[in-house]
Amino acid sequence: MDIDFSEVNYLVNPCSRTLHADYQQFLLSLIGMTVIDIDGENSNEWRVISTLLHGDEPSGLIAIHRWLTTENSLPRPKTNIRIIISSVEAATHQHLFRHRYLPDGVDLNRCFNEESIRSSQDGANKMLDGYLQRAKLIETAIREVNPAAIIDLHNTSGNGPAFAVTTLITPNVLSITSYFCDTLILSDINIGAMMELNFSCPVVTIECGGGTDDQAHEVAYQGISSFAQCDSHCALPQDKAVQILYKPLRLVIKAQRKLSFSKHDEGYSGVTLRENIEQFNYGGCCDGLLLGWLDDNGLENLEMLNDQGINVIDKYFKMVDNKLVCAAHLKIFMASNKTDIARTDCLFYVVNNVSNHL
Ligand SMILES: [Zn+2]
Repeated sequence: MDIDFSEVNYLVNPCSRTLHADYQQFLLSLIGMTVIDIDGENSNEWRVISTLLHGDEPSGLIAIHRWLTTENSLPRPKTNIRIIISSVEAATHQHLFRHRYLPDGVDLNRCFNEESIRSSQDGANKMLDGYLQRAKLIETAIREVNPAAIIDLHNTSGNGPAFAVTTLITPNVLSITSYFCDTLILSDINIGAMMELNFSCPVVTIECGGGTDDQAHEVAYQGISSFAQCDSHCALPQDKAVQILYKPLRLVIKAQRKLSFSKHDEGYSGVTLRENIEQFNYGGCCDGLLLGWLDDNGLENLEMLNDQGINVIDKYFKMVDNKLVCAAHLKIFMASNKTDIARTDCLFYVVNNVSNHL
């Protein structure tokens, strides 16, 4: 597929014909990365809503379309809003919302740090330059309007409750989080994601829940509506209490190890996770909880690096007989039984299950 990565399509206060009757038709009418500007009451201030950095995560687009079309006329937000719809080609490739990125492409939300993505690509990926160019265009589209706040809407690959992620906690970050959900993860993971860039304003990634879950679309819609309508004199008002979880670690399976999912121990090589691993995205995991099974290489199959790059896997997990079990009280996020995502990204994120409500 030939893609013009240098192209950005702009829509300003689009009319109902441009927005089409439903989000599917609207998405199919877009050609590549699209920026939509909506006038607000205060035309000197901007907020940015980013979505579809991942083409298989529809909640943001569905909610934005609903927000733009729910009344007879466009909504009138408190400030101008710039919407950035990034991976239109991946989202419309073959079937709608099936591809995180194009078959020969790379993960766009790992391309905001050129060095790290180049070093992680063994061999030349012929689309990498294009993806890096698109990441730059997204960054430019954000900086152009010098926004007061940015939200980036995603879906988790497995099912689970909504949560927010940020690299810096401020009162406004807590407020923005509270419009969408009640859990905020403070992350210092550097993977080249958009939210790691410094835009001198709050940047909050919202993981709305699973992409096929209507509740996730609803979370995105309600959150966008509140985000667009909140007053911006100094601090934004907070909707509800938000629990903060500190510094998640990524549990990854090492290269060349086999990954399976099953109800029972099948004696497979490598790592076998429980087929229902997604259910542990809800609530916590107790010390001793069975998560799966390991071959003779045990915990060696897995890796969990802390912020100093030290493998701390055995602080969190242990092998009992050949069972993989929790060695502490944990909270896990984004566990999924989709093998490709679990392999290429991580099995799931882990935080110590501290239950201090702030
Ligand atoms: Zn995503």
